[in-house]
Amino acid sequence: MEKAKFCPICKKMVSENLVDTCESAHQYVIDNIKRKHPNWVEKDGACPRCVDYYKKI
Ligand SMILES: [Zn+2]
Repeated sequence: MEKAKFCPICKKMVSENLVDTCESAHQYVIDNIKRKHPNWVEKDGACPRCVDYYKKI
C-alpha cells in the first residue's frame, strides 16, 4: 500500500512525490520555507509546487 503524500507546507494531499528537501533543495529555499513555517524541518520534505514557490520569493 502506498503511503499518502501530504505536504506539510500547503497542508494538501499531493499526487506527486514530495521533494526531498534535504537532498535536492538549495539552502536559501529551505531558509525561505522556515521563515514562514518555523516548525517545518527539511526532512519533512515539501511538494514540488511549494519548492517552486519558495524558490521565487
Ligand atoms: Zn505543498
